Amino acid sequence: MDMIASLEGIVGDTERVTDAADALEKHSRDFAYHTPRNPDAVVFPKDKHEVRKILRFADENGVPVVPFGEGSSLEGSVVPIRGGVSLDFSLMDEILEIRPDDFIARVQPGVTHGKLNEALEEHGLLFPVDPGWNASLGGMCGTNASGTNAVRYGVMRDQVLALEVVLADGSLMRTGSLAMKSSAGYDLTRLFVGSEGTLGVFTEIVLRLYPVPEKTVAARAVFESIEAAGSAAIAMIRTGMQIGRVELVDEHTMKAVNAYKNTDYAEAPTLFLEFSGNEAGVESDVGKAREASEAEDCRAFDFEADEEGIELLWEARHEAALAIVAASPDKLAMSTDVCVPVSELPEALRNARETIASRGMYGAILGHVGDGNYHAVFMLDPADEDDLARAKEVNEEIVNYALERGGTCTGEHGVGFGKMEHLEAEHGDSIPFMRKLKKMADPNGTLNPGKMF
Ligand SMILES: Cc1cc2nc3c(=O)[nH]c(=O)nc-3n(C[C@H](O)[C@H](O)[C@H](O)COP(=O)(O)OP(=O)(O)OC[C@H]3O[C@@H](n4cnc5c(N)ncnc54)[C@H](O)[C@@H]3O)c2cc1C
Repeated sequence: MDMIASLEGIVGDTERVTDAADALEKHSRDFAYHTPRNPDAVVFPKDKHEVRKILRFADENGVPVVPFGEGSSLEGSVVPIRGGVSLDFSLMDEILEIRPDDFIARVQPGVTHGKLNEALEEHGLLFPVDPGWNASLGGMCGTNASGTNAVRYGVMRDQVLALEVVLADGSLMRTGSLAMKSSAGYDLTRLFVGSEGTLGVFTEIVLRLYPVPEKTVAARAVFESIEAAGSAAIAMIRTGMQIGRVELVDEHTMKAVNAYKNTDYAEAPTLFLEFSGNEAGVESDVGKAREASEAEDCRAFDFEADEEGIELLWEARHEAALAIVAASPDKLAMSTDVCVPVSELPEALRNARETIASRGMYGAILGHVGDGNYHAVFMLDPADEDDLARAKEVNEEIVNYALERGGTCTGEHGVGFGKMEHLEAEHGDSIPFMRKLKKMADPNGTLNPGKMF
């Protein structure tokens, strides 16, 4: 079988099927340290009809298919470890409909969260899920992404009302509806969100939107220790205030941010905070946050109230991971992604710091601590076996610590093949059920094989 010729026949356009070396290389890897593997071809579908035909062809001919958004995921989810087709959604990037009165947007999977938010500005609306990369909404559904706003608005799964899905055999189905709630049957939308391209391919996504808050204030609170910063964050949550964002960044990350952004923030554990709502509510919340920070002996509590200052502050936070990566240009990143019950957070942060130090390693810690999710980021040379083994050991210890406390191995990055063993440790008893689901949805193992379990 001449696969390239068959795929060109399906899409009727030689430009949108390629096995050029640079395209294969780009689709061989994600943003992290995982070993790359080239696909045999990259295809850029233009619509759902093409996606259906490509999948039918692949399923009948034993060709693996790996959906690809922006390739920014971190656990090997897009690496085509068995070759086949990388199905790149960058040309399916149309915002199909914005319904301001229903707080709904209908989009194709290649639309990025940045592009959607730009289009929402004129309606006074926002889409809140904001990973630190301008990721595609299809990929964000794939990993059940979250980000700095999750503490207030929830994660991707909380925003997706409906999906149009192409299954492995090329059949098409819709899940969910345009209604804000439903009790109609099994919740397949929530099942498909987070399935990392292993159960079906999204060709349309219906998302929930929110009004832009009347007033927003951002602040930075600087602490002596990472545990004190974590404790202050928990104390703020406990007051029941409507905190918008509460992000922790350690001293190593602040140093990297200063070098990357040319800023002069204190190089100490810092909480980045945001409060939003009406004028009176915001004022009261800021007061409570200041009190909680002072109770943990914070060194400084600074505000940003104008739009430009707020934007700069969040730009620095959003680019923190990129800053860490830029500080070690010849290395690749490994990031832990555990999430613990929030009351366990300060101890978990202390434990992570000690575990990293006990191996003589350098690891920056940062996270969306309002919901108990934090990352230890190690820069490593994957070819250096000792380096890799040490980082994996520390990662595993951090995961085991979280699991022992009822947490999860991944709060937002997904499993891919980087966390398969950790998924086994967390959900060994329910993996047989997951396997049955996979077998039913994709009996020939066409969709993103070798991932998750
Ligand atoms: C600097 C940086 C910061 C980050 N910060 C965060 C963060 O704060 N929070 C967070 O959650 N993540 C974060 N990430 C990780 C990453 O941005 C997310 O995992 C994001 O969801 C990936 O989107 P993507 O478009 O790059 O998808 P990809 O990486 O291309 O794909 C991700 C998964 O979705 C599947 N997929 C893609 N498109 C489809 C489709 N149409 N149908 C079905 N499946 C599909 C893929 O097969 C794959 O399994 C960060 C990454 C970087 C590099």
